[in-house]
Amino acid sequence: MMKKLDKKDSPYKVDLTAIEGDGSFPCPKCGMMISPEDETEDNYTIEDTKVVNDELVELVISCGKCSSIIRLTGFQQVFDA
Ligand SMILES: [Zn+2]
Repeated sequence: MMKKLDKKDSPYKVDLTAIEGDGSFPCPKCGMMISPEDETEDNYTIEDTKVVNDELVELVISCGKCSSIIRLTGFQQVFDA
């Protein structure tokens, strides 16, 4: 259960498996919609990524509006056996 957190302490965490649709979610702090599919990075900046076995398991972004650090998890839906 307990997972070791590396470096940055992020107050906000979003589990993408709990999100319907295209994966967009509102910033936990300011409410601006953020879409991980949007690669223009207008709405957010990628701070860190965590890849295990060539799969993206965690993405740390900062909100483009309020600069909150948000930790995204739940990319595992790729494993559809
Ligand atoms: Zn925000």
